[in-house]
Amino acid sequence: MFNRKDEKVQEDQSVEPPGIIADNTDSLWEKSNSAESVISVPLSKWNDWRWQMRNRIRSYEQLVRVFPALKQRKELQGVMNKYPMAITPYYASKIQETNYSDPIFALSVPHIQELYDSACLSDDPLEEHCDMPVPGLVHRYRDRALVIATTMCSMYCRHCTRKRITGMRENSISTRRMKQIVEYLRSHPEITDVIVSGGDPLTMPDSVIDMVLSSLRSVPSVEVIRIGSRVPVVLPMRITEELVNIIRKYHPVWINTHFNHSAELTPEARAACARLADAGVPLGNQTVLLKGINDSPQIIEKLCRSLVRNRVRPYYLYQCDLVRGVEHLRTSVRKGIEIMEYMRGRVGGIAIPTFVVDVPHGGGKIPVLPNYIISMSESYTVFRNYEGMIVSYPEPGTEPVAHLIMPESQSGVWEVSAGIDEMIMPEKNKRMARRRENSPGVTGDSCNGF
Ligand SMILES: *Cc1c(COP(=O)(O)O)cnc(C)c1O
Ligand code: SF4
Repeated sequence: MFNRKDEKVQEDQSVEPPGIIADNTDSLWEKSNSAESVISVPLSKWNDWRWQMRNRIRSYEQLVRVFPALKQRKELQGVMNKYPMAITPYYASKIQETNYSDPIFALSVPHIQELYDSACLSDDPLEEHCDMPVPGLVHRYRDRALVIATTMCSMYCRHCTRKRITGMRENSISTRRMKQIVEYLRSHPEITDVIVSGGDPLTMPDSVIDMVLSSLRSVPSVEVIRIGSRVPVVLPMRITEELVNIIRKYHPVWINTHFNHSAELTPEARAACARLADAGVPLGNQTVLLKGINDSPQIIEKLCRSLVRNRVRPYYLYQCDLVRGVEHLRTSVRKGIEIMEYMRGRVGGIAIPTFVVDVPHGGGKIPVLPNYIISMSESYTVFRNYEGMIVSYPEPGTEPVAHLIMPESQSGVWEVSAGIDEMIMPEKNKRMARRRENSPGVTGDSCNGF
């Protein structure tokens, strides 16, 4: 029902970006079923983001024209009636195989399973509508607020958590609505960090983006502006010189983008990230863990390494929200923990995102890690590292126990927590073997040559 309310809120929003609303009844481009398909569109059109927006695949008929193999999948019509579909020609052209084993296909093409919900799922699992002091503004954390600037995206992710808002109507925020938000921000100077989200704010025309950013910048207490956008991934030609010049006027502006798989880091997407990074925009990435798409340690490792190479810092790895239509894409929490276990020690820290569960009832994001603290005593905290080495850290004021020999004592975690043993090292530790090899003369205190 909040859903309806939300829609009403959007109804009187006046700014209708001319020429952006999909009008692709006679799609100009044809694409065969293979990766090397020929797209009969002049490059000047292909590289024009407005052309890409106008020619998004929005209906079942258009989908079948592009992927004739889907002719037998009439049931998809019902899915897209419920949860709208939009795929930019650019993104569709990156599909290699017309089935759900292709990550780009699975992220963008509806699946019949979307219609089979478990009772745990809801329209607004994060209860964002309950934290909206003014329409279009979610204020949950004290110092941060989130602006829902548009209901439009260039592509509708099948796993989207804001399906209740996105896609059905495609509207950008009005100047009037923005004024109300600015008023709220002025009366709440504790808000220093504003996230412009949606929908995808970078699908709005330059003039609206400029209006939103300048409104936010007019509030002296707003220090940082963040934009959440999947445009660098699914519509990279949108990152134009003009757009970048608008964004850089309002620095500090951070952009969090949304790559889910390394297959999305195409030359075009990488160039879009480079244009933003060159304009001084710090880039982060938010990935959603999705079954059959990226729920493996190796896939996440590859994605994160690739992001860092492109100056994009992996920020969050999300557990899938409990939103309707995603049951078939949800993974278990333990899969995320397994991935974090795999990453630490193997991949540099800048390539390791924080795994978070955005919990139900608006509890917000909760970071989740494997357990690294094994035990504690008055004097020592006992950790284990990624290798399984168990080692203690002395609390302030702790004097080492001069290696008491307790005859009845066996070496165990308690002994480490009591300061009797300093560590327990797995026998086959390769790092220690390397130490012995590289510096055979060094033993004893300085580096525990074992
Ligand atoms: C995620 C989120 C934020 C930002 O949280 P960070 O942890 O600072 O990235 C702010 N507001 C809402 C409602 C959010 O969902
Ligand atoms: S870009 Fe974001 S808001 Fe838009 S469909 Fe994807 S997840 Fe949802």
